[in-house]
Amino acid sequence: MKPEDKKNRSAELRELAHELKDAFDAVSPFIEKHTAVVCPECRQVCCRDKHGRPDENDLVFLRALGEEMPDGRTERGESEPCRFLTETGCSLQRWRRPFRCTFFFCAPLLKSLENDNAKLYRAFVQYFQHLVQARRRLLESRAVPDQVCAP
Ligand code: SF4
Ligand code: SF4
Repeated sequence: MKPEDKKNRSAELRELAHELKDAFDAVSPFIEKHTAVVCPECRQVCCRDKHGRPDENDLVFLRALGEEMPDGRTERGESEPCRFLTETGCSLQRWRRPFRCTFFFCAPLLKSLENDNAKLYRAFVQYFQHLVQARRRLLESRAVPDQVCAP
């Protein structure tokens, strides 16, 4: 790949990553409005340390943003409480959490979201779909091969 093409590609990835970050910010308040009610009552908290560990796709996103990579060192076992869990919930901004943390809705949380004002819930679903699509575009763009060989 020519240096100029590489530069354009990095800029494109960065732009897609910022779009995804904005999408996380857009869905977060509605989710947190409900986790604030549902999670304090929970007896089977889902935040296990293995869920707080980023996968390769999460790292693609953070790299494209130019963010520091998370420190993967931990003494915790996979099923121990997540290292980022505090008494007031997750200590990471939503966009810094692994995607699975935002994608997971347990039954009580889902019920709470669905029982909110119908217009707000519909808007949330649209924002959430946008988030999923923004992430897909970023990951597909990353997957474009560096060199395409002409037949
Ligand atoms: S999201 Fe559901 S399972 Fe996880 S802590 Fe909240 S109520 Fe519990
Ligand atoms: S939401 Fe936060 S505390 Fe819960 S598993 Fe994800 S990173 Fe850990």
